[in-house]
Amino acid sequence: MNDTYDDQNIFAKILRGEIPCNKVHETEHSLAFADIAPKAPHHVLVIPKGPYVCYDHFARSATDAEIVDYTRAIGDVCAQLGVAQSEGGHGYRMISNAGPDGVQEVPHLHVHILAGRNIGPMVM
Ligand code: C5P
Repeated sequence: MNDTYDDQNIFAKILRGEIPCNKVHETEHSLAFADIAPKAPHHVLVIPKGPYVCYDHFARSATDAEIVDYTRAIGDVCAQLGVAQSEGGHGYRMISNAGPDGVQEVPHLHVHILAGRNIGPMVM
C-alpha cells in the first residue's frame, strides 16, 4: 500500500453515502461511525473526509484545518461516549493501523476508539 488513494474503498463509499453507517459524530472534515464488528462495548472509527490512506499520509498532506478538525473530532467522540479521562471517564484505547505491517484492511485513514471495558495489555 502506498499514498495512492483508492476511491473504491469501503470508507470512501460510506463518505459518498453509497453504503450506510451508524453515524456517531460528524464535523466539516471528519466522520465517526460504529465499527460493524465491534471488539469492545464502544468501538468507533473516526475518519477524515479527505482522501488520505493512513496517518502519515494525512499528517504530511492534509491542511491545518483538517488536522485540527480531525484531532478535535477524536476527542469529542471520546467525550460523547463518556470515556474521556479529562471528564472523569474510564478511558479508552486509540489505534490506527497503517500499511501491510500495521495490518491495515481499509486503505482510508481511521482511528479505532475502543472503550467500555478494560481493553487489556497491548499484545505484540
Ligand atoms: O484498521 P483496519 O483497517 O484493520 O480495520 C478496519 C475496520 O473497519 C475493521 O474493524 C472492520 O470491522 C471495520 N469495517 C466497518 N465497516 C465496514 C467495513 C469494515 O466498520 N463496512
